Amino acid sequence: MNKQLNLILAEGLMHSGVRHFSAAELLELGASHGVKTADGFGLNTLPPRELLPNLVKVALLADAVRDAYGKPLIVVSAYRSPAYNRALSGAASRSFHLRAMALDIAPANNDVRGLHAAAGPFWGAGGQKRGVGGQDWGGGGQSYGIGYYRWGIHVDIGPMRQWGKARS
Ligand SMILES: [Zn+2]
Repeated sequence: MNKQLNLILAEGLMHSGVRHFSAAELLELGASHGVKTADGFGLNTLPPRELLPNLVKVALLADAVRDAYGKPLIVVSAYRSPAYNRALSGAASRSFHLRAMALDIAPANNDVRGLHAAAGPFWGAGGQKRGVGGQDWGGGGQSYGIGYYRWGIHVDIGPMRQWGKARS
């Protein structure tokens, strides 16, 4: 853990009012990075400092989802280095994780259905009325993407879009 990077991120989170995610959690290197037998073993790095503002913005989005869900969430994947992203099967080649604009989050209690249900109303018809749309992620944009997966959800501050199927 890079202490200085952690402090800079922690300060950004505090100033932006992120309540549920710590700098240490958002500097998660990903499961495959730490598993010897995984393709991505040892390939991830901490995010370049200039990408930390993106990480703060996507943390604000995750914070809103966390508020709606009401239970602890675990950051499974955050920033990905190019080499790490390439090594992951199923990762988009131009993933928003490469720019620290995406987070994969999973429910601590494995209640994936509950998380999908809580996240769903933010998107789709009228989603922006739910409050999260009031956030400006920067660049004047208020858009976000969500992907539903068996393990949880992917959220990013890219263009407005949705994929996967919510478990219900
Ligand atoms: Zn993702």
